[in-house]
Amino acid sequence: MTPDGLRPAAVHVHDGVIDDITDHDAIPSGTTLVDAGSDVVAPGLVDVHVHVNEPGRTEWEGFASATRAAAAGGVTTLLDMPLNSVPPTTAVAALDHKRRAAEGRCHIDVGFWGGAVPGNVDDLHDLHRAGVFGFKAFLADSGVDEFAHVTGEQLEQAMSRLADLGALTAVHAEAAGVIADAAAVWATGDPGAYATYLASRPDEAEWDAVAQVAAIAHRTGGRAHVLHLSSASALAPLRAAADDGVALTAETCPHYLALDAGLIPDGATAFKCAPPIRDLANRDRLWAALADGTLRLVASDHSPCPPELKALDTGDFRRAWGGIASLQLALAVTWTHAQARGVTCEDVIGWMSTAPAELVGLHRKGALAPGNDADLLIWDPDPMWVVDASALEHRHPVTPYQGMPVRGRVTATYLRGRAVYASGAIVGPATGRLLSREARGG
Ligand SMILES: [Zn+2]
Repeated sequence: MTPDGLRPAAVHVHDGVIDDITDHDAIPSGTTLVDAGSDVVAPGLVDVHVHVNEPGRTEWEGFASATRAAAAGGVTTLLDMPLNSVPPTTAVAALDHKRRAAEGRCHIDVGFWGGAVPGNVDDLHDLHRAGVFGFKAFLADSGVDEFAHVTGEQLEQAMSRLADLGALTAVHAEAAGVIADAAAVWATGDPGAYATYLASRPDEAEWDAVAQVAAIAHRTGGRAHVLHLSSASALAPLRAAADDGVALTAETCPHYLALDAGLIPDGATAFKCAPPIRDLANRDRLWAALADGTLRLVASDHSPCPPELKALDTGDFRRAWGGIASLQLALAVTWTHAQARGVTCEDVIGWMSTAPAELVGLHRKGALAPGNDADLLIWDPDPMWVVDASALEHRHPVTPYQGMPVRGRVTATYLRGRAVYASGAIVGPATGRLLSREARGG
């Protein structure tokens, strides 16, 4: 899968870097040849939204298990979110702490987001200089006490600072006020019913927050990115911002593209995430927004926890941790639904590799092109298989995709020219690097 499209080709790799892409008959004699047969050879996936949770909540997930899952899923670079780890990545000392925890444990390349929280505006510059790829902020409760959400005013203050640095601000865009207004449904609704949870996080929360982020990006001139967009109602303010020339992008996630609120069984807390999975008509509009470019990319928002915190035994949506574990399945889940809709695999790889690499300035990732890292996904898009959570590499065998049929198998994953996953197994040792944001053009 070259930048010009899918065609028979040979990818030449030297010292971990792509040298050239040629026809098969231009392979020099004496070359070590890996024949991918009729599989697709694509750039390794770049997942810019992963919660690794180490240090501090390593029992939820960790660098070793998360990057094994990533490698098995064809992901060669991930960006770790600043929260759920303790300490959260809101100051340079915390970033250093996290880097020490990750060192030597990663099977793929890993970079880091910083966090923008109330009171750390003066840390943003140093975190930026220390190499984070951007800053995440929440406009609603983050789910963990140590990572507070910002008000619109605080977000504007942080984004003004980040605009001066040319740094990207990524926002969890649900409006706290709208969610607070909807909170009464927990008192009257059945806490085991998915419909109760869905009603507690209405479309208006996303619409309102995306409109706020667009207005702040407009006023500050900063670059903003809306994380995990679920509600199609929020596409309108995104499109309006694009028409006004505001630097605002957005991602969605495999679960919003694949799942249907109407089919989520009551008590099935593995499906709980925020914002929530919505109905079929909403899902169709998200696919249309990917096709027309309103949504730029697909990221997993992998956010696992131990099974007991998912309240699987009681099925109580009020108590369950909100987060979906899907790092290893993101491609299979997205492709299954893309293929059924007649979407090409070039589009899917574009959303899951090229566009995310561009968003965060990973200039050597996201495309099979000379000079780029030889990060390769070798993939058979055809076979159907059934998800078995216990066979996945992430730490706990919980995922909403358990038992679901999906399409497409990762045959092998290469990181800088070396296999890190092949024939159904991780190939050690952990040679992933810890990445820092590159200067523009660097
Ligand atoms: Zn997240």
